[in-house]
Amino acid sequence: MYDYIIVGSGIAGSVVARILAEEGNKKVLVVERRNHIGGNCYDVEDENGILIHLYGPHIFHTGNEEVRAFLSRFTEWYDFGHEVVAKVGDKLIPVPFNLNTLHMVYDEEKANYLEKKLISEYGEGSRVPIMKLRENDDPDVREIAEYVYQNVFLKYTMKQWGQKPEEISPEVTGRVPVVISYDNRYFKDKYQSVPVDGFTPMFEKMLDHPNIDVKLDTEVKDIVEFKDGKIFFEGKEFNNGMIYTGAIDELFDCKYGRLPYRSLDFKFEHYDQDSFQGHSVVNYTVSEDYTRITEFKFLTGQKDTNGTTIVKEYPFAYTGKEGEIPYYAILDEENDKLYNKYKEDAQKFNNFHLLGRLAEYKYYNIDAMCLKAIQLAKDLLK
Ligand code: FAD
Ligand code: UDP
Repeated sequence: MYDYIIVGSGIAGSVVARILAEEGNKKVLVVERRNHIGGNCYDVEDENGILIHLYGPHIFHTGNEEVRAFLSRFTEWYDFGHEVVAKVGDKLIPVPFNLNTLHMVYDEEKANYLEKKLISEYGEGSRVPIMKLRENDDPDVREIAEYVYQNVFLKYTMKQWGQKPEEISPEVTGRVPVVISYDNRYFKDKYQSVPVDGFTPMFEKMLDHPNIDVKLDTEVKDIVEFKDGKIFFEGKEFNNGMIYTGAIDELFDCKYGRLPYRSLDFKFEHYDQDSFQGHSVVNYTVSEDYTRITEFKFLTGQKDTNGTTIVKEYPFAYTGKEGEIPYYAILDEENDKLYNKYKEDAQKFNNFHLLGRLAEYKYYNIDAMCLKAIQLAKDLLK
């Protein structure tokens, strides 16, 4: 008999599984509905031998030493400072908007003047969310804010969320602040990397433990029954422990209505040329229907490839239709309320734990997810 059943083999499920199995000597069953492990971090070679991220480009970035050390047990890293540019007119400008960008969009005299202004207002090295910058009363600062709002945020956010920047959670646009320095990197974290052989081998090593069984191609409800606040497994009530990383509304057949999500349609294209855009990621902040193009070889560091593969991301509203994947929780009060109704019902199960971006209805990066999973596993083993 298993000590724990874990639903989902993404970063949340895999990290928890490993610690329970290894540190707690617990027998663990990981149930995964897809035909592979790794959740949305999954990567695989396409038919041209190019390593692609099937569910969107993923970069592991963190300032947390514990998380870095934990994952480093299962992989070595290809470290790089991840940089993104945005296509604005015929220019490619660095994003987040920073002092390099400022000097690209204004003439030298004005840029020098505005630079001094920004530094005196916020301090060198500071990171200011666009929605905060727009509140500044100084007309010069407002001019910059307006430029950034119009050319970096407005159209991209409309595509990604179907809403204006001021209509979505400030937490979301705050992920890409205006940076008062000459640092072009997209993230500020100490470590910015991808696993040197890809994410999937990292997950394979993590789940490779005598106390872990992984069942692929298995929908949890095919082997577990959830009924009247109880969980049944192999015909018997199962109270040992379950960690659920799937969508919480699905668990209850969406009885209170679906939790809203944004989804993405990924269009992969291969070109028989050395490079398509010369950058790992180009954001389309003022034109096109897609939000960004990722050219994988520049992200993964893969050398000597046969041509190059890119992916374009087309956002749309998730409806729950077969084949659609809920990618981004839409953070607002109303959705929080709906989430909490499901959570209350989930709390009726014995030893049942919600973990992960779908089960918690949150916008998690890999590192935050990993840390949360480490903490849950440790709590369970106390
Ligand atoms: P998931 O990875 O979604 O794993 C959940 C797993 O559970 C899936 O494999 C699913 O098939 C399985 N499952 C669900 N329901 C069931 C069920 N009923 N039965 C059986 N199995 C089930 N983070 C970063 O740090 N850096 C990035 O660059 C980055 N890029 C991103 C790009 C995109 C486009 C998106 C959408 C997210 C990105 N993220 C990034 C966030 C990152 O993907 C998440 O933090 C991480 O995947 C969360 O892991 P998870 O285990 O909670 O969920
Ligand atoms: N954003 C934007 N323009 C950009 C980059 C980001 O408007 O060039 C906004 C957009 O609303 C996006 C959010 O900032 O959803 C967060 O961006 P991030 O790159 O962190 O999104 P993710 O990689 O998680 O999709």
